[in-house]
Amino acid sequence: MAEACTHTDRIERTQLPDAIAGCEDCLAIGGRWLHLRMCATCGHIGCCDSSPNRHATAHVHASGHPIIRSAEPGEDWFWCYEDEVAFAVADGS
Ligand SMILES: [Zn+2]
Ligand SMILES: [Zn+2]
Ligand SMILES: [Zn+2]
Repeated sequence: MAEACTHTDRIERTQLPDAIAGCEDCLAIGGRWLHLRMCATCGHIGCCDSSPNRHATAHVHASGHPIIRSAEPGEDWFWCYEDEVAFAVADGS
């Protein structure tokens, strides 16, 4: 476990989209979610590990994209699955 994330070059998106319909994968199967997470590489919206289907984690493993961010209002933390470290990103805007 590293002290800091070494994959920040994989971050393509720091900003959440203006409108989030919900977990993309839950919407496709009619599932439910608790909290939403966004992939910081491709922008996939998935559900958290407290949700029944854990689509954010499933996306990380399926895609190899290591970093997600919270998509919850007022939350701006990022999490790297490979380093198991949380961090914040200064978004310059
Ligand atoms: Zn990392
Ligand atoms: Zn889901
Ligand atoms: Zn992704």
